[in-house]
Amino acid sequence: MFPHLFTPLSIRGARIRNRILSTGHDTVLPIDGTVNDALIAYHRARAKGGVGLIVTQVAGVHETARYTSHLLMATEDGCIPGYRALADAVHAEGAVIFSQLFHPGREIMESADGLLAVAYAPSSVPNERFHVMPRALTLPLIAEIVAGYAAAARRMRVAGLDGVEVVASHGYLPAQFLNPRVNLRTDAYGGEGRLRFLREVLLAIRDATDEDFVIGLRISAGEREEDGLTAAEALAASIALESELDYVNVTTGTSATLGGAMHIAPPMAFAPGYVAPDASAFKRALRVPVFVAGRINQPQEAEAILAAGQADMCGMTRALIADPEMPAKTARGAVDDIRACIGCNQACIGHFHKGLPVSCIQHPETGRELTFGHLARAERRKRVMVVGAGPAGMKAAVTAARRGHEVTLWEAAAQPGGQALLAQLLPRRAEFGGLVTNLMREVERAQVRLRRGVRVTEEVLREEAPDAVILATGAVPHVPDLPTDGDMQVVTAWQVLRGEVRVGARVVVADWRCDWIGPGVAEALAKAGSSVVLAVNGLHAGEVLPLYVRDNIAAELHRLRVEVRPYARLYGTAGDTVFLQHTPSGEAMEVAGVDTLVLCLGHRPVDDLAEVAARLGIECHMAGDCLAPRTAEEAVYEGLKAGVAV
Ligand code: SF4
Repeated sequence: MFPHLFTPLSIRGARIRNRILSTGHDTVLPIDGTVNDALIAYHRARAKGGVGLIVTQVAGVHETARYTSHLLMATEDGCIPGYRALADAVHAEGAVIFSQLFHPGREIMESADGLLAVAYAPSSVPNERFHVMPRALTLPLIAEIVAGYAAAARRMRVAGLDGVEVVASHGYLPAQFLNPRVNLRTDAYGGEGRLRFLREVLLAIRDATDEDFVIGLRISAGEREEDGLTAAEALAASIALESELDYVNVTTGTSATLGGAMHIAPPMAFAPGYVAPDASAFKRALRVPVFVAGRINQPQEAEAILAAGQADMCGMTRALIADPEMPAKTARGAVDDIRACIGCNQACIGHFHKGLPVSCIQHPETGRELTFGHLARAERRKRVMVVGAGPAGMKAAVTAARRGHEVTLWEAAAQPGGQALLAQLLPRRAEFGGLVTNLMREVERAQVRLRRGVRVTEEVLREEAPDAVILATGAVPHVPDLPTDGDMQVVTAWQVLRGEVRVGARVVVADWRCDWIGPGVAEALAKAGSSVVLAVNGLHAGEVLPLYVRDNIAAELHRLRVEVRPYARLYGTAGDTVFLQHTPSGEAMEVAGVDTLVLCLGHRPVDDLAEVAARLGIECHMAGDCLAPRTAEEAVYEGLKAGVAV
């Protein structure tokens, strides 16, 4: 069924069992610059799940490479034992492992001691996104960094890894050397000598390793910003360097600008496999294998890319974060059982930007393998009643059932899913519904009994008399008692999303939490033709959202001419005027001529059954929005913990 996906690929001494690749991504699991047990457990789970090749996260090759506080470093021999344990764990499960070798150049984000690290780049050209003004590299420092790549590669070889991948993508140091708009040097490393740095690095790595060792290059086929490396320049560099390379791993975008950075982990608004056409240009021009990544979420998409000859391997990193067993499930024909990534970015790259370990909104076990990698059987089989089949309830039910309990999941509505059903109605968020589909499949597989259309009351609880109850009863929109003369149409975001109301031509959306709902409703109404003011009680629309998602939303609101008013707290209406308060100054702001006010002011928990359960002496756990406010990610994680606790 997937003939191309499961054809092995040999590169020098590495025999890769299939064409599924976990690309290098920062997990934030290491805490002191070395490989730790958490990182080993994370990659072991994916290797066990059948991935062909794991490229581990970036390893700094020189002291000037410390771009975040949680970077792995390969500058001392002390890194070798950790990498050896990692390589052994991955090899034991049948996968091949390379390490990315890294220098960020001017792309410095933070430093461990609170002082921004001194950035070095080919020339003193600023990075406007991180507000970094780098120092130009001296010739001795260039020589040190080249030697650093070689020494790091040698350490990887000694540790037993199968290869390394030099990161020349996303505007990092090697890309800065290649880019004539960033590399303004007039010495041997500038002008016609722009390839010299990278060539020296590749040759030094080969000298420091052996003939079996794989040396790859990651490069952006166009950085997608005005001053970025172009696709033609990236291709020309790859062709010129091909004799020193064993493969080229094609991606797109750059860390240097917000627009370019969205491609590092493209959100669900991007089409699946959208980088494959760029990769195919490399494939046509090169003899070495070409890898590609970029929203390849499903094995069917990967198979199509391989079958079309656009690439030789497919990076499916988030697909593996969401479901480490995706390759094994595909191989045995159980594609319906795959927990497909929905491109929400909340817990994978979203965690990276918050400095938290990698996880997945749908699979909170990711990044927590040491704690939740193995579910212990319950000591005593209980009759467990889970009330509420939103994300928290479904995850709790599945977890409890897998531990051996007899579980019934009760849902008052006809359809399970809770607020996730509403989230999928937001513009460009249809894929979010995959969260419900995936969890429902797990509910079925765990043989949880589902009772739909029944509201659990005290009587039901008495009648059922379970050994334990898990409450995941959700929340309802918070509608404050506003000073208003009643003239204006006032509705909730839920009513708008469900199509229960018709809104007017001029709308104010009052957003309290700055998450998905306010910006999403504003976007939907603007697209439907309303003139929209989005009043956010914070600094940005969607400010609590993952970086690239938030930026994508901001770009869309800007295009649609939605007027975003920051620091705006709703405090009433009169006639057709909405009154807002500018929170830092306390001054009043008015929006006149308004037809409809849409409230996105958070949710009130529905938690009455907790008191009932306590009165009846039933063991009770709670999860999700009944402890409101909860994001979907928090709800699913809490569901897991409740399922483990019961
Ligand atoms: Fe995919 Fe969202 Fe999970 Fe990230 S958090 S792996 S984008 S489903």
